[in-house]
Amino acid sequence: AQKAGIALGETRLIKVNMRMETNVKDVYACGDCVESIHLITKRPVVCQLGTAAVRQAKVAGTNAAGGYAIFPGVLGAAVTRLFDTEIGTVGLTEFSAQRAGIETISVAFSGKTRAQYYPGALPIRVKLIAEKETEKLIGAQIIAGEGVAQRINALSFAILKGMTIRELAKAETCYAPPVAETWDPMVLAAQTLIRRLKRK
Ligand SMILES: Cc1cc2nc3c(=O)[nH]c(=O)nc-3n(C[C@H](O)[C@H](O)[C@H](O)COP(=O)(O)OP(=O)(O)OC[C@H]3O[C@@H](n4cnc5c(N)ncnc54)[C@H](O)[C@@H]3O)c2cc1C
Repeated sequence: AQKAGIALGETRLIKVNMRMETNVKDVYACGDCVESIHLITKRPVVCQLGTAAVRQAKVAGTNAAGGYAIFPGVLGAAVTRLFDTEIGTVGLTEFSAQRAGIETISVAFSGKTRAQYYPGALPIRVKLIAEKETEKLIGAQIIAGEGVAQRINALSFAILKGMTIRELAKAETCYAPPVAETWDPMVLAAQTLIRRLKRK
């Protein structure tokens, strides 16, 4: 890319604008070779995920074909499974928030993926990170025996819409013993954080 006169960003990946256009007019780039803008820090990040790649590709293709589309940035929602353990993340970790100069409040809550008494309920641990001043959710990490992906998706929507932990603590989630707890663990995590804030 550099040989072709295409500028790199501070992450040493190709720098593009929101239309996925490089510094060279009509040359577009997308996927693992470009740097993305983090939606919370507004800083360039390396986000080499298929989720970002396909969304960026659609935008680059639309613009290259004469249309208009933008890719606003990433929250870095990701999930994986190691043997019987699912691990997911979205937004900032406590460490990355602090590195970006954001003061945080956080909680790690342990519960069950279904009604406690129901056979097959598996352990789940939900960590929520919120901006201290606004109490807006800015990140979450979950580790559990099941059900991580859809909770990460729900928290991704919550972060994107600027939800506060107080709003999350009152969110309505579904319940049926074989599949869900009366209060989802992500809601219980938010309630735990609020209780702690009240005590201070
Ligand atoms: C093991 C693994 C697991 C992953 N799992 C996930 C996941 O679960 N979820 C997720 O969101 N992301 C996942 N990713 C990341 C995801 O695969 C990438 O972010 C995504 O494929 C990037 O798309 P891309 O088009 O930029 O690059 P690629 O998919 O790598 O495509 C680039 C293509 O260019 C070709 N190429 C390279 N050099 C040349 C050349 N000189 N001339 C012509 N062609 C060339 C390559 O052969 C390749 O086909 C995973 C990645 C790996 C490696």
